[in-house]
Amino acid sequence: MSKIKNIAVLTSGGDAPGMNAAIRAVVRSAIYHHLRVFGVRHGYEGMIQGQLKEMKSHHVANIIQRGGTILKSARCEEFKTPEGRKKAYEQLKSFDIDGVVVIGGDGTFKGARAFMDEYEIPFVGVPGTIDNDLFGTDYTIGYDTAVNTVVEAIDKIRDTASSHNRLFFVEVMGRDAGFIALRSGIACGAEAILIPEKQTHLETLRSHLEDGPRRKKSSNIILVAEGEVAGGAFAIAEKVKEDFKEYDVRVTVLGHIQRGGTPSAFDRFLATRLGVAAVQALLDDQKSIMVGYMDREIVHIPFNKTIKHNRTVNQELLDLFDILNV
Ligand code: ADP
Repeated sequence: MSKIKNIAVLTSGGDAPGMNAAIRAVVRSAIYHHLRVFGVRHGYEGMIQGQLKEMKSHHVANIIQRGGTILKSARCEEFKTPEGRKKAYEQLKSFDIDGVVVIGGDGTFKGARAFMDEYEIPFVGVPGTIDNDLFGTDYTIGYDTAVNTVVEAIDKIRDTASSHNRLFFVEVMGRDAGFIALRSGIACGAEAILIPEKQTHLETLRSHLEDGPRRKKSSNIILVAEGEVAGGAFAIAEKVKEDFKEYDVRVTVLGHIQRGGTPSAFDRFLATRLGVAAVQALLDDQKSIMVGYMDREIVHIPFNKTIKHNRTVNQELLDLFDILNV
């Protein structure tokens, strides 16, 4: 018999579509296992301030299809300090919490690990970030929806681009990682992608553009991840404009539309599986781990590993661009 009786759940850091589905899964499976479950509003900030409220099954009705997070998310500097975490611990104790599910990204897990270095209450993480940059899971909640949003937007941009022979630089999210750019670039037939993991060779880009007329290209779409080293979509567009006067160069920054919207079926499915797995992990006395999804199986990855290791982009997928842009 597990000694866990009361658990808390929160969303933290950057929000992602599908977080609500994960909250729903945590709440419902906790109730199924006869636990009491408390929602913490505003991430670690709310934990420090004691913003905990018991959740019943009906509190998570009709949210599986909603983007954002009903618990709200926040960034919290105070939780980075031992004093802040002490306050959080005291709040958790006052609600008799003996297990916490945190839904978030790398930073959220760093916070959980720091807390667990100091206190006994077990934390289990659920990967929720549109960036898909976490080691230990093939997919993070929100990534699939974000990619679909990007693809839909680029299909529209393509229509106008090809009507006017335009060259579009489209900036997508991914400060440290090019996963969104890579997957959506493949899915929408982009001519090139510029991502932080791969040095941008302006020369390669130039020769590709010089080649355009030979291949009778009526439009060019170049996806740029926001963290791309050469200075983002605007900076690259400026450099290219000087050399390619024949192209009508435009820049579009997709921005926060990538975070919002109805979660895809895949993200709802993933969030549901991971939410249920997180509660099960707490019942099995697991702690300081993230529940991940690899090769269609649930896996447990220690926070230490998921924080320390960087997820790398797949070279095979990068090579696809050369194959498809002959
Ligand atoms: P994400 O989880 O999406 O990566 P952040 O990096 O903003 O988002 O992290 C979310 C929160 O986690 C931070 O606002 C902070 O409260 C906490 N956090 C991040 N890094 C640490 C750390 N090194 N120590 C303690 N808490 C941290």
